[in-house]
Order: sequence, then C-alpha cells, then structure tokens
Amino acid sequence: MEENGTAAKKENISRKDFLSLTGKTVAAGAAGSIALGGLLPNELWAQSTTRAMSPPADIPPGTEDPIVLEEWKSAVDQQSGPTPTPLPPGMRIRYAIVGLGHLALEEIIPALGSCKKSKLTALVSGSPEKMKKVAAQYGIKAENCYSYQTYDQLKNNREVDVIYIVLPNSLHKEYVIRGAKAGKHILCEKPMAVSSKECEEMIEACEAAKVKLMIAYRIQYQPHNRKLRELVQQKTFGVPKFIEASNSQSSANPAHWRHKKALAGGGALPDIGLYCLNTNRFILGEEPTEVFAYSYSTPGNPLFTEVEELISWQMRFPSGVIANCSSDYNVHESRHYRVLCEKGWLNMDKAYAYKGQKLMTAKAEGKMEKQEEIGLAENDQFAAEMDHFSDCILNNKRPFTPGEEGLQDHIVMEAIYQSAREGKPVKLTHNLKSTMRGPEPKTE
Ligand code: NAD
Repeated sequence: MEENGTAAKKENISRKDFLSLTGKTVAAGAAGSIALGGLLPNELWAQSTTRAMSPPADIPPGTEDPIVLEEWKSAVDQQSGPTPTPLPPGMRIRYAIVGLGHLALEEIIPALGSCKKSKLTALVSGSPEKMKKVAAQYGIKAENCYSYQTYDQLKNNREVDVIYIVLPNSLHKEYVIRGAKAGKHILCEKPMAVSSKECEEMIEACEAAKVKLMIAYRIQYQPHNRKLRELVQQKTFGVPKFIEASNSQSSANPAHWRHKKALAGGGALPDIGLYCLNTNRFILGEEPTEVFAYSYSTPGNPLFTEVEELISWQMRFPSGVIANCSSDYNVHESRHYRVLCEKGWLNMDKAYAYKGQKLMTAKAEGKMEKQEEIGLAENDQFAAEMDHFSDCILNNKRPFTPGEEGLQDHIVMEAIYQSAREGKPVKLTHNLKSTMRGPEPKTE
C-alpha cells in the first residue's frame, strides 16, 4: 500500500536518503541540525544531548531492496508472495516486553520470531521464575531482565529501543509514562487505559519525552480487514448504510483481573467490544456523532458484580451510516461484522480473531446476486503491527495507530457507558477531529 499525504512526503525518508542525510549530518556536527528525529546513528546519538530517545539501529544500505528471483510459474498458476526483506538481526529495533501473561507468551513473543524489523532483547515481569524460563527459551541475557521495581533502569539499557506494555488495563498509564521517561518508544496494548483523561496524560508524557507512542490495534494491520475497508471506502458495493458488528466470548474466572473494575476499567466493552468500535471507525474513516446503548449483567453471577456482561450500542456517523454493535462476556465465541451497502454487502467472519478471517461479499447483478469470497493470504497481525512501529522508528514516521487513536475510542466508550446509564442517546459534542494518523502501513 502506498503511503499517503504530505506528512508521508515530508517524513518518509528512504533508507538511501537516510544514509546520505546522516552522512551529511555527521559532517555537519552532532547538533541534530537536520530534523531526523529517531534517525540518528548510534555514534552520533551518543553525542546528542537534546534527545530523550534511545538510538535506533543503524540501517545498512540496500537491505530493503527486494531480491529478484528467476520466474518459473506460468501466469495462471498461483503466484508466490514477494520475497521477504528482513533486516539483519543486528539492525532491528529492539523490544522489551512488559508483563508475561497470556498475550505476551502465546502471541507477542512468538510473533517477534517472524518479524522483519523487530526483535526481542529484554523482559519485565513480577515473576522471576517465569522470566528465567522465558529468557532461557528466547536467549535473553540475565542483565536484560527487569522486575516492576527495576523497570526504570531500562533507561540505561542501550539494547532496548521500544517498550511494549502488555499489562492489565489500569496499569498501562503508569508503565507508559515511566517508559517514556526512560526515553524509550512505547507500544501499548488496547484498551489504551481506563479513561480518556489517562490517555491524554499518556500522550502528553510521550510528547514531552519526544518518544513515539502507538496503540496495538492489530486489526488495522490485518489484510482482510484492510481490504474490506478499501472496498467500503471506494464504494465498490455502493454507499454503505448499516453495519452489524459483534465480538463476544465466554469467561469463567471471577477472580481474574478482567472481572475487577479497578484493573480492567470495565467489562466486555473495553476488552472485546472495543474491536467493534475501533474497526467501525477504521473501515468508515469517520467518527461517530451520537451513541445509544443498553447494558445488562445477570443478577447474582459472580463474574459480573463489578463489570458488565453485555453491552449493546448504536453509533450514528456523519455520512448517515448507523452501526449496531454488541459484545457479551457470557455467550459462545462469535466475532463478526457485516456492512450493508446499496448494491451489496460485505461480511467478515472471525473478524477480530488472531487468524481465520473470512471475507464474503454479495453484489446485485441484474436480477441475480453474485456471492464471492475474497481470498487473501493471512499474516501474523502481531508481527505486522510491531514491524510497522519499528518502521516508524527507523524512518521517523508517525504510527498509523498513535495514542490519539486510543484516546478517541475511550471518548466514545465513555459516551456509550453514559448512554447505558441514563437510558438515552448521547451526542459526542467534543470536537472529534481526525485521529492524526501517520502514513498507511507498508504491506509486503
Ligand atoms: P494476562 O492476565 O494473561 O497477563 C497480564 C500480565 O500482567 C500477567 O503476567 C500478570 O502477572 C501481570 N500483572 C502485573 N501486575 C498485575 C496485577 N496487579 N494484576 C494482575 N496481573 C498483573 O492478560 P493478557 O490477556 O495478556 O492481557 C494483557 C493486556 O493485553 C490487556 O491490556 C489486554 O486488554 C491486552 N490484550 C490484547 C489482545 C489483542 O489481541 N491485542 C488480546 C488479549 C489481551
């Protein structure tokens, strides 16, 4: 996908440009007279006193130029994907993972193994035994393993560029702000925090520390969802009118932090309903102007004494599209959405799952309906989002899903809860401006 807009033109510097620019900068001295942001090479960085960021890896010439292989398949055969262009391990952006729970151990750390621009160099955990095992499995040095108490010492670790926060929701703010103060770029899991006010403080802290902040909205880096967005925005099936979206699952452990308001911030909505909200905003490229919601929790069910079981809400968008969304913590897993357009529909099954997305479309053709599955290669969504962030650091670009994207969702979620409490629609009167996204992520 092409990078868009003037920001991309201004900010996106090719690796060859980078090398010639840094060459000139070195000659001109270390004062950072050329605004390369995170692009200063290590030795130059060490001399710079004006930046709070740790140095990114040096970029070798030509590492992103594709290797062209001899053709051998006929045009009617299934073609291979592009030859991968990984950075050499010594040149990749280096990640510290904070919190070694399900997501970190089952998805994120394994995904780092298939990244092309990112690698794992440090761990932060409250469990020394678990961390020792994980460090042994992934070859992490003992001196790069931190507890929550020694976390701030990451400041002195020159082998870490990014801190990835994978903690319970209410801890995101503290660890993002401490991480930014340590001079590291921050990737933070969704939901960004537990309130819009916290999100604002996190954005301010990262701006003050001159580090980048990205929220890990993996769906926005997932090929099927990206394709659907393209088809909707190009009006391939006519004008979109209505969206049905649901992200639901069941849970069993009332003692888990997801069922404690102080740690989770809420129930189904911020955890899984957020995917419906964020993906609707993403595919439409619009911000809702009004919401109307209902919420329900089965009386006496210990899972839902603090957080909601079911939330169902409608969002009205400026173009006239109405989205009807629901999220439930107490039903069999179901993750899908359907966009109804004037001349057809687009349906995404397993929409918010880690894999298995299925994009079906239907289009009116005269008196007939043509249904079609759009087959696309799957990617590792976690690897894609981390490599996007690494690419932003290497090329001094703004992330496609910056902190403002997380803030926007929290503003809407607060309106959804208010509507459910008051039993009436809530207008989003604040100036919901564009999310100030960076350029579109590169696809390989
Ligand atoms: P988890 O419970 O499996 O892991 C949380 C980790 O935080 C554990 O290692 C735990 O020991 C640690 N922790 C530190 N302080 C804690 C405290 N006070 N209470 C409880 N745990 C504490 O949770 P998870 O499923 O890995 O979720 C972590 C974050 O990732 C959450 O913000 C969640 O919303 C997000 N998440 C995102 C996705 C996604 O697809 N992007 C999927 C799952 C979870």
